[in-house]
Amino acid sequence: MVLILLSKLDVKKVVCHTQRTVRRAVSCSGIGLHSGQKGTLRLRPAKADTGIVFKRLDLGGMEIPARIEHLSSINYATGLANNSASVETVEHLLAALVGLGVDNVIVELNQAEVPIMDGSAASFVYLVHEAGVQSLPAARKFLKVSRSISFVQGDKRIALYPSEHLNVTYSINFDHPLLRHQSHSIQLTEESFVDEIAPARTFGFLKEVELLRQKGLALGGSLDNAIVLGETGILNSSLRLENEFVRHKILDVIGDLSLIGYPIIGNLVVHRGGHALHANFAKLVLEETDAWRLVDSPVEPLEVPDSQEIPVKGTAAAR
Ligand SMILES: [Zn+2]
Repeated sequence: MVLILLSKLDVKKVVCHTQRTVRRAVSCSGIGLHSGQKGTLRLRPAKADTGIVFKRLDLGGMEIPARIEHLSSINYATGLANNSASVETVEHLLAALVGLGVDNVIVELNQAEVPIMDGSAASFVYLVHEAGVQSLPAARKFLKVSRSISFVQGDKRIALYPSEHLNVTYSINFDHPLLRHQSHSIQLTEESFVDEIAPARTFGFLKEVELLRQKGLALGGSLDNAIVLGETGILNSSLRLENEFVRHKILDVIGDLSLIGYPIIGNLVVHRGGHALHANFAKLVLEETDAWRLVDSPVEPLEVPDSQEIPVKGTAAAR
């Protein structure tokens, strides 16, 4: 351990991240999990500070920004609305975009639901990789947590704590032999998101399928786009990943919290969450403005006095 003296000017040299968009337009088609309707989704490049904006081509190009103030539904999936236009089941696509560091994109749709594809974010990761990613001449702002924020709803809990990275710890328990307790922790990077979270599929209980269908939900659901749990096991041939269920919950919370509008730097801990808990927490985070700061880099210190002794590991950094 070597101690060196860093001036405020030196600290400001931390790497500044630029905003990004997709390099070219790409599209995919598939059915909506809840509507059962076939539709096409196209990602188009967008300028800096556009954010993620859905565009309903079938409604004359009406736009719906992917921001928490446009949240409209949280029943079994996350939906957004702006005036009379809405879009459903946005969470897996949003998770893929934020997981791959795509800040700005226009998402064109010709119907009201994002295609479910295989129930995970893997197809959207593939789509973004096909398009390529392009830097834009504007700094990305990160929301860096400076004090803890927590929200409790019955036996469900969600909290953010200060950290230099985005870490997520998620735990679930259901009244099912396979899901009595499942927990997973991960430090999110582009690589860890792609390899360990994006392929995790959504899941549902066979005994609830009929009830969902009576409500007009899960009409497009099948073993091709969801893990289905029977009384004692799964109806699919196999799981893709260890702890695939809770990894999918991590995928969901990444997508839902993207509605805050900034990548988060903090330790996120969730127990028994769902779209409602995630969305309520996203609103709370934006209200608690003294619990975070917008910074240009995840490693930017939150408080920088004029000069300060900062321990630096190793000798290479002490040039
Ligand atoms: Zn999901």
